[in-house]
Amino acid sequence: MHHAVKRSVFDRYPRLAEWLNIVELARLPTPVDELPELARTLDAGRLFVKRDDLTADPYGGNKVRKLEFLLGKAYVDGAKAVMTFGAAGSNHALATAIHARRLGMRPIAMLVPQPKEACVRRNLLLHLTAGTELHLYPDKPRLVAGAAWQRTRRRLEDGVELAVIPAGGSSPLGATGYVNAALELADQVAAGLLPCPDRLYVACGTMGTCVGLALGFALAGLNTRVEAVRVTELDMASEARGRQLFAETAEFLHGLDPSVPAPGHLKRRLALRHEFFGEGYGIHLPRDLEAADRFRAVAGVPLEGAYTGKAFAAFMSDAATGRLRGETVLFWDTYDSHDWDAEIGGLDYHSLPEAFHAYFKE
Ligand SMILES: *Cc1c(COP(=O)(O)O)cnc(C)c1O
Repeated sequence: MHHAVKRSVFDRYPRLAEWLNIVELARLPTPVDELPELARTLDAGRLFVKRDDLTADPYGGNKVRKLEFLLGKAYVDGAKAVMTFGAAGSNHALATAIHARRLGMRPIAMLVPQPKEACVRRNLLLHLTAGTELHLYPDKPRLVAGAAWQRTRRRLEDGVELAVIPAGGSSPLGATGYVNAALELADQVAAGLLPCPDRLYVACGTMGTCVGLALGFALAGLNTRVEAVRVTELDMASEARGRQLFAETAEFLHGLDPSVPAPGHLKRRLALRHEFFGEGYGIHLPRDLEAADRFRAVAGVPLEGAYTGKAFAAFMSDAATGRLRGETVLFWDTYDSHDWDAEIGGLDYHSLPEAFHAYFKE
């Protein structure tokens, strides 16, 4: 079987295209912009931004790259519905819902609470446009039990084929979307759009993004060090989980195409940065919002406080020590930047299941 979607990972490993049925959701490659004034004022050598806020319409961000692979499989498997997991304001659950709906599959989001924020309210309201079936569980154990029950119920009562996508889309198949992203960047380096970055800053939630990037750089022979800024609890993001996902993803690709080196032959340049996490997932520190404001003022692109604000704050903090002087740094923007204000204005939270109404009351 031949696949028509052009992706850097398939250019490099054509045999993978025989096995991985992707759906074309993204508009790639995403641009790379240089921010010389910020580099100068913050004391870094050169600063570039990889615009994964622009991966797709109507909804971009990093999850789309994973969903090309994950929803591609669900689609080929004949799934009628797609279940996934996250926090109440999960960008991943929303991206999955919007893109699954475009492919004609019904989205089901299994969610747990998180702090009340404007971003959370926005994402919940946008689920109304995708017609997502939303469930809120008080904690993870009850979510796991709820998911088992929902899957059984659908099998027995509806006979609906259900695809299940893990939280954040961070399986070996999902992380392959970021292996592709790293190879895409390697192509941009080869084309002279930017020098090979010495370091890359990216937010790390369920690790598929940073691990996929580190694996892709190892395959491309780029010596870029990935600074993965942890924004979730240690059960989601840890050194052990990073090692495991790296090995599993390399093993998965090596199994499909033996010309992909086995994990033992690959160098993993990935540093998990714990010191920017703060008090919990989704809790913004003042420096995260300052970093987001600073970036928006110069780049004209919005960041938020839960992921990208923390990642940019990490860059600013490292730059302030002087250690980035003379380095080429890449900030990987993972947050959808479409303006949704017009859509949201016409949506009423009372149309959401009652469990979610508390997010809209002070
Ligand atoms: C999910 C998400 C991330 C983290 O990606 P992982 O692959 O889960 O580590 C970063 N930024 C934004 C905006 C996200 O929604």
